[in-house]
Amino acid sequence: MPRYDFRCRACGATFELSRPMAQANDPAVCPEGHPDTVKLLSTVAVTGGGASGAAAPAPSGGGGGCCGGGCCG
Ligand SMILES: [Zn+2]
Repeated sequence: MPRYDFRCRACGATFELSRPMAQANDPAVCPEGHPDTVKLLSTVAVTGGGASGAAAPAPSGGGGGCCGGGCCG
């Protein structure tokens, strides 16, 4: 279960909660009981995107492309 860091805007405390990702954006309550908290970027940051693009050269039979002969290099 991922852990999320929160910071309380009322008392400035930072705390950590383990919760399902489905509840990642649910409001968290400070251990001191303050409901005014913000979620911080956790160390387990899962950014969008993915693996780098396919690096395998696609053999384009026919020779209709421009980039084959160096005209757009
Ligand atoms: Zn607090």
